[in-house]
Amino acid sequence: MIKHPAEPFRIKSVEPIRLIDPLARKQAMKAAGHNVFLIKAEDVYIDFLTDSGTGAMSQSQWAAIMEGDESYAGARSYYKLKEAMDGIFGFEFFVPTHQGRAAENILASLLVKPGQSIPSNMHFDTTEGNIRARGGRPVNLVIDDAFDPSNRNPFKGNMDLVKLKDFIEKTGVENIPFGAITITNNAGGGQPVSMQNIRQVSELYHSYNIPFFIDSCRYAENSYFIKQRDPGYENKTTLEIAREIFSYADGAWMSAKKDAIVNIGGFLSVRDAELHQRICNELILREGFPTYGGLAGRDLAAMAVGLWEGLDEDYLSYRIGQTAYIGESLLAAGIPIIEPCGGHAIYIDAGKMLPHIPQAEYPGIALSGAMYLEGGIRACEIGSVMFAYADPDTGKVVNPKLELVRMAIPRRMYTQSHFDYVVDVLKEINEKKSGLRGYKITYQAPLMRHFTARFEPLGVDKKSPHEKVMETKKKTL
Ligand SMILES: *Cc1c(COP(=O)(O)O)cnc(C)c1O
Repeated sequence: MIKHPAEPFRIKSVEPIRLIDPLARKQAMKAAGHNVFLIKAEDVYIDFLTDSGTGAMSQSQWAAIMEGDESYAGARSYYKLKEAMDGIFGFEFFVPTHQGRAAENILASLLVKPGQSIPSNMHFDTTEGNIRARGGRPVNLVIDDAFDPSNRNPFKGNMDLVKLKDFIEKTGVENIPFGAITITNNAGGGQPVSMQNIRQVSELYHSYNIPFFIDSCRYAENSYFIKQRDPGYENKTTLEIAREIFSYADGAWMSAKKDAIVNIGGFLSVRDAELHQRICNELILREGFPTYGGLAGRDLAAMAVGLWEGLDEDYLSYRIGQTAYIGESLLAAGIPIIEPCGGHAIYIDAGKMLPHIPQAEYPGIALSGAMYLEGGIRACEIGSVMFAYADPDTGKVVNPKLELVRMAIPRRMYTQSHFDYVVDVLKEINEKKSGLRGYKITYQAPLMRHFTARFEPLGVDKKSPHEKVMETKKKTL
């Protein structure tokens, strides 16, 4: 029997959820233009849309919220946060930001010029958006194993060092304002990056004098994977591992809504004093004074506690075990997922599960739609809707290699019986999957279209029986 470590906490406060009936779910879907982002949260039973900002805060975090210092400048809560930042990440400077993309926006606005490229293992959608918004080109150079869903490489988030070196040589250092790596690799299945790879990526960037930044949203989960899977790290604490990771970088940004288990928050850290000064100037313009960066004092306080709690090894063993529990249960039922299971999410291989739906008809949208209609479960397409783009040189649409549906698991929120329910719903869908149909887009925004796009199901007769009767009548008249 598949098992996971029992929760290292008990429940003190509860939030009711309900499963609305099938007809109401159908109506909700239609009203939302078949985009699950546009459904009301109260009409969702199990919400796997994201693990971002959805975690359950601990009693220590709620206590910290009460003690938050709302002073405009130099608040006590800022210094608590600084203690955590210095102790875990060890960069000379940092500014809080209201979330990860605010940090990305500032970094891109200061460093990216039109036509320049930013390599990474894989950029997340907000990072891509912020780089493209400044005319830059995000470039993904993850190892090829990442695109083979059943390949069980323990570090599928690793950068391909040969591709990276070739890319730098071909592009020219002057066209690469900074290099990045995402830990864990969210867009590629939540897969970790090994310590050796982080060190080698750092050495390679530095040999060309390219500053190296880490997108560190899941620093704690990646540290725990290194402890479990990277030989030589089994006796190190996750804190020691995290410190080593960041010692190789010139800066980092983070959405604290992930591994710091807060509902809002982020940061941007650097070692360079002059860059820090420019960041502060930009921050003041867009976010707020450098000691609060667009957050309330209480948010800084909760984040300071959460950054430490995220590294707790009992919590991480339960968390990573819980994700593996869902993933292994789906595999046992013959549902294809990205293997091995990542940290924060299970990625169903919708392209493989629904081979009768072509990429241009969005298999991920078909599957996530079915999950809501069948079981009130909300999950997110990570495929062509999110990542297809028009090549700036040729104008041709470039589709991503995989069509995935991500079930992101909020931290400390759902229990094993919720997961068993989800697995049962997916088994049911799997049995009648040949009946699922593709979709077409009826509205899309120029950037990050997945949030607001509207869809129409294909291949179904949209006319009601009444309309059809009226039509035949008209014809016979
Ligand atoms: C969530 C996320 C971001 C963006 O953070 P927000 O807080 O949502 O703005 C950037 N990179 C990665 C890897 C993420 O998971």
